[in-house]
Amino acid sequence: MKAWRFYGFGDLRLDEVPMPAPPPRHVLVKVLVVQPSVTEAQLAAGIRTLAFDRIKKRLETEAPVQLFGHEFCVRIVEVGEGVRHFQVGDRVAARAKLPCESCPLCESGRGHLCRKGPIIGFQLPGCFAEYAVLPEIALTLVDERISDNEAACLQSLSDSVAAVETAQIQIGDSVAILGQGSMGLECMQIARNSGAGRIITVDVREEACAMSRELGADVAIDATSDDPVEAIRSLTEGNGADVVFECAGGSPRQGLAGVKSVTQAVDAVRSGGKVIGVSWFGAPFELDVDLLRERSLRYLFPDISTLAHLQHTVSLVASGRVRMKPMITHVLEGLDQVPMAFEITANKGKYKAINPAQVRMAE
Ligand SMILES: [Zn+2]
Repeated sequence: MKAWRFYGFGDLRLDEVPMPAPPPRHVLVKVLVVQPSVTEAQLAAGIRTLAFDRIKKRLETEAPVQLFGHEFCVRIVEVGEGVRHFQVGDRVAARAKLPCESCPLCESGRGHLCRKGPIIGFQLPGCFAEYAVLPEIALTLVDERISDNEAACLQSLSDSVAAVETAQIQIGDSVAILGQGSMGLECMQIARNSGAGRIITVDVREEACAMSRELGADVAIDATSDDPVEAIRSLTEGNGADVVFECAGGSPRQGLAGVKSVTQAVDAVRSGGKVIGVSWFGAPFELDVDLLRERSLRYLFPDISTLAHLQHTVSLVASGRVRMKPMITHVLEGLDQVPMAFEITANKGKYKAINPAQVRMAE
């Protein structure tokens, strides 16, 4: 089969590799739609973000190596021994971070807290290939009301469900969301479904602000013309928002906000309120913790998404309560288009993309 393999940062080649066979409790799948995550697109180009050092080490010691590809919709073509919930022909999507199933946490039923399991695309080969082998515990069945393209967004959406659950929004809470990339727009729609009152979003891209309004934000602030902190405070009677999602931070080379969105989140949340840190920064940075202490702020980070979160995304999208279709702005045809999908996803501003660029394979 054909698979993209990395020989180094920025060096990926479409190679012929042996067809994998599914071990027990795994399935062999044919890839229908796959998209790089923003993190993967940055890592592929050698930009520091989540897991940079681990990927660098794998490239130095194992290249050529199949990397990335944890956001996908696939069809099962063969089931391994002991697979209980799926059969050949099923269309499935997956969560990325898996429990190890053998540590004391996993064995005591707390696998959602495990950090020892593999991540699809990082420790296990992902779906930038014609076929892939996936563990059954990663998968959920895709409802027939969900298209292949929408299903490829469910992994990211499950992380956003986990982020919103971490926020524990109370009915009527004012919510501000800094950054209206795919996770920012997902958190906005899920917050809307979770009892949020007024929702104020912020982005620096006109097309992202327009998408945010279309998908349900009450107010979308363009930070190139308005001060987002002032705007959020004035829309919340001077208090600041009850909950602020920080989804804008990251490498300025990719048009992200650097670390200043963290300071903005802290300034835009009310005292005693919650900041949910969704972004990755790739390096340590300074933060005045005394200020957070003085204002009794909660700076929280999302839990790992579980199978329950992933299953909830199926219900949200199938019922139309969360709309992914308008966010899918770039769909490329054929496995050979994967490098272009990385290029677009790493530079969404330049290409006016909202969701990562998708690659669709002929079935
Ligand atoms: Zn474990």
